[in-house]
Order: sequence, then C-alpha cells, then structure tokens
Amino acid sequence: MKNSDQSQRFLFEDHPIRGQHVSLDQSWQEIAQQGELEGRGLSLLGEALVVVALLVDTLKIEGSVTLQIRGTGPLELLVVEANSKHGVRGTARQVGEIDEQADLQQIFGSDVLVITIKAEGAEPHQGIAPLRGINLSDALEYYFATSEQLPTHFCLACDAENASGMLIQKLPGKLTDDDAWDRVLHLASTVTDDELQRLALGELLHRLFNEETLRLFDSHTIKFSCSCSRERTAAMLLSLGKAEASEILETEGEISVSCEFCSTNYSFDQIDVDQVFGEGGTVPPSATTH
Ligand SMILES: [Zn+2]
Repeated sequence: MKNSDQSQRFLFEDHPIRGQHVSLDQSWQEIAQQGELEGRGLSLLGEALVVVALLVDTLKIEGSVTLQIRGTGPLELLVVEANSKHGVRGTARQVGEIDEQADLQQIFGSDVLVITIKAEGAEPHQGIAPLRGINLSDALEYYFATSEQLPTHFCLACDAENASGMLIQKLPGKLTDDDAWDRVLHLASTVTDDELQRLALGELLHRLFNEETLRLFDSHTIKFSCSCSRERTAAMLLSLGKAEASEILETEGEISVSCEFCSTNYSFDQIDVDQVFGEGGTVPPSATTH
C-alpha cells in the first residue's frame, strides 16, 4: 500500500548510484486547485513541483530549491519551490490554449528555466538551463549533462490527483561494472506513469531493478506550505514606495494583495499604510482572510 505525500531515498548497494522518489497527493491537489490550469499546463506544474521536491532532498541542504520559467507563451509563468522542512508550494499562470504537441519553448514562450538554490549560510546559487525538448525531464537532463553536475535522470508523471517522480543519480566513484549506469537508466526508463504514481516505492523498485541490491531509507511526509506573511507583504509595499501606495489607496480605498501561491489576501487601509511608512516601520495587525 502506497503512502501519501512521501519522499524517500534509495541506494544501489553495489554501485555508486542513488535515487529519490517523491509522490504528492493532498499537497499537489491543494496546489492544483489554486489555478485555472488544464492539460499540459496542469501536468507541467505538478511535474515541476516533484522536481524541486526531489532536488531539495537529493542536495541535502538546509534551505530551498526554486524552479522558475517566465515567458510570453500560453503558460507564461511557472514558479515552484520546495524547502528542507518538507514544504512545497507553486503556481502557474495559463493565458491561452496549449497545443498537446507543443515543445517547452512554445508552451512557455521562453528559452530558459532558472533553478535557484538557497542554502543557509551561503549565497543563493542560480543555474540557468536551456529549455530544450518536449518534457521537463528532457530540459533537466540536458542541464545536468551539460553543466558541471552529476549525471542525473528524471522520470515524472502527473494527473489531477497525484504528481510523482523518481530521480536516479550517478555518484562520483568508479563503477564496479561498466554497464551498471546504462543498465539502471534503461530499466528506469521502462517505468510507466501508473507504476510511478500508484506503487509503494519498495514494490516499484522491485519491479524495475529486481536483479540489484537496493537499500531503502526512511520516508518523510511532504506538505503544502506557504511562506507568505503580512510582514513580507508590508515589506513589498515599502519597496513599492509611498507615492505609489498612496495612489492605489486613493483610487481603491485600500491596498489588497493576494498571495499567488496560497490565495491568502492581505489588505492595508490608510491607517495601515501610514504605519508601514511611519517611523519604526511596524506592521499593523489586521484581519487576514484565507
Ligand atoms: Zn501564500
């Protein structure tokens, strides 16, 4: 029986190869419901979420991994983030119909994807990868193959109920048997979406790699969580500037900011805005609606 919203690591005992498996159920459904996505727009958001959840656990950092694509295509924005506290959040904006045959550049109207790694105590690291291929896994594998990183393979699958994926990575060190990496990749590529999404990891690995000795590590639960707050929204107002804030207040009566990840609404009236721009810059307490 498969557990919900899990991330789990595994290791090939006889080869320098490791893997990670992520399966998102409730957390994915909460995120999927926020936007008005359909077809490939929806599955790209789910697959991207799985990718950052896989990467944050594989990198073993305290911090977060963000993947972002912005462009002028029918899916003009996609932002997903996973952190080391096992929280994921993400959003995408679909403004037109996506052709089922379209490649990533046509879907996003962009030719790059940006991966940002923020680890505690270190400068954020930003990697820019060409948006190549039809599927997200194509673009990521190209990125890992052409940048100074470990060879990494992704299998991804998503529907409205579940988003799942598996990462296989070759670690530094000599293979005891020269064909091991190719053999593992070949076997991994035979996985079906259904197996990836519905099977418990032990059973999945047994089906794929029954000739290999594998070690399975403990799983942990992933949940949807958003890091937005009234304080952060107030800081954004500050950076907007007093003149612009006053102008919005005059026409709208209040400033209302909705979080694009979780739809929480933060509103600021004249008194709140005065306090934000006032001495000390304290943030006024006020009603926050979910
Ligand atoms: Zn939020």
